[in-house]
Amino acid sequence: MGGRVVVTLGSRTEAIERLAQTTSDDPLDVLVVGGGITGAGIALDAAARGMRVGLVERFDVASGTSSKSSKLVHGGLRYLEQREFGLIREASTERDLLRRLAPHLVEPVPFTLPVSDRWNRAKFSVGLWAYDTLASFKNMKVHRHLDAEETERRVPLLPHGKVKGGYLFYDCKTDDVRLVMENLIQARRYGAIVANYLPVRGLEPGKEVCRATVEDTETTATFDIYARRVIVAAGVWTDRVEGLAAVGAPVRLRPSKGIHIAFRHESLPMDGSAAFIPDAERKRFLFVIPWIDGVIVGTTDTAYEGNLDAPTVEPEDREYCLAAVNAVFDLGLTETDIAGAWAGLRPLVAADKGATADLSRRHTVYDIADGIIGITGGKLTTFRRMAMDAVDRIAGDLGNTVRSRTQWIRLGSSNVGALNAAVTRRAAVMGINPERASNLVRCYGDRALAVLDLAATEGATAPLIEDHLPLEAEVLYCARSEMAVHLSDFLARRTRLALLDREAGLGDDARAGRAMADVLSWDDMTTATEIEGFKADVERERGMRLGAAPAPSGVTRERAG
Ligand code: FAD
Repeated sequence: MGGRVVVTLGSRTEAIERLAQTTSDDPLDVLVVGGGITGAGIALDAAARGMRVGLVERFDVASGTSSKSSKLVHGGLRYLEQREFGLIREASTERDLLRRLAPHLVEPVPFTLPVSDRWNRAKFSVGLWAYDTLASFKNMKVHRHLDAEETERRVPLLPHGKVKGGYLFYDCKTDDVRLVMENLIQARRYGAIVANYLPVRGLEPGKEVCRATVEDTETTATFDIYARRVIVAAGVWTDRVEGLAAVGAPVRLRPSKGIHIAFRHESLPMDGSAAFIPDAERKRFLFVIPWIDGVIVGTTDTAYEGNLDAPTVEPEDREYCLAAVNAVFDLGLTETDIAGAWAGLRPLVAADKGATADLSRRHTVYDIADGIIGITGGKLTTFRRMAMDAVDRIAGDLGNTVRSRTQWIRLGSSNVGALNAAVTRRAAVMGINPERASNLVRCYGDRALAVLDLAATEGATAPLIEDHLPLEAEVLYCARSEMAVHLSDFLARRTRLALLDREAGLGDDARAGRAMADVLSWDDMTTATEIEGFKADVERERGMRLGAAPAPSGVTRERAG
């Protein structure tokens, strides 16, 4: 395997040193504030045009909304109701492109939409024709009507005789955090300097050069970064970045909360097909998506005025999702079946009135002050277009005439079939099963072989915790090569154990915490603080205590014959 050049997120310390070396005479071209999908996409777009780019994130990369989504790269069937035809067309085009640029990460998924009455059958027939047409019939395959028998065959969990039929349509699913990581890693390949735990504490506009004061929250040191242009891509926090208050926020945000609950596959065994199901009141539809080694159900859409840093899954949110799943599948699932839950905030641009569900998911690029622009709104799916629009806006000022190149830049994998085969073969020799091998490809793309190299040299081939896919070696890899600094960086983002595991991935005796402590040389006090802090954060977000006793499988308990 020697000689393989593998680009990673690199060293945080080195990135901070380089950012601190910028001066008003030797500034960056662009400083991006915010390491979610929008900021990551901008960093890649700008760096690939030859600009000198820095990106700073106040917590961990993707720790905001970009780790809390429904994990879909989709046209957005729901936006038909809002007549957002342009958005659906744009999102469908982006989905097709992303499938090609990141085949290990953006995976087609068939959706079954059960219908039990004529009105819905007619409504969805029209809607799905429009959906396919807007995607120029590139929704993987054209949708089709299913009779009752085929609907039940596709989703065997449906109680027999309850549905009259259904529809089959296609979209794609992804891992939102990994999509952010791939963009950042590729941006770094083009020279971008990326650092997490580096919040902007002050921003000084300037016609020629802007100054951002940042704090390294790992050391509490503050320093200045100079850049000719600043792009604020701070999601729901965009109008709250310190230093911007003085200039005034030209765009008003109206955050909307969306939650998901997750189940172990044994509790909600969806295989292959995902489902698009009505809620109990038939007001909206929810996704039920097999994802990694679990199944996720969501989402909600409620106006949010609470603490932006701490949205929580409230009991009524969980009840709403449980009621929807139980009404369709008749499984009798209860709170004790829930393996994980998360809440996120959509950075929607405010209209004067109306429900947040009706607000447009389109994005806006706007001037904030001399040298500083902002971008907000949009979707995970359309990040590449958003990035292009933002960078186009500043390119002229920088005298850069290069057009966006991101439609040709691969996001971490090329020949995924050959890669899967190579990784599975190598993993088998090391005693790692094919599911774990595929999960390495899903997470790391072309870097999966480097993770296996590390597993071999460090003797870290065992699963990190029982019943889940990540390997011990991944703790090492993510700490050394992907800027995982805290326990949550690894459990909630580099892997998604915090979302899918009842114990949030900690394992017996907080095994994962101790593994992280070994790699990062934490003392006992730091280890305890990390583990307790992580537990408290997960419990607060889930609105539930960790490790609620597993119930007997909903299927064996309730499944109608
Ligand atoms: P964020 O991901 O929030 O990133 C902003 C970053 O800025 C944060 O990491 C934050 O810490 C950082 N920041 C803030 N202040 C500072 C500062 N002072 N200094 C430095 N950094 C700072 N879209 C889809 O396409 N498909 C879906 O399936 C989908 N599902 C969704 C489901 C839900 C429940 C929600 C809420 C959204 C969903 N979306 C989906 C929308 C999508 O997730 C968001 O549009 C997208 O993630 C927003 O990314 P962002 O980078 O703009 O914001």
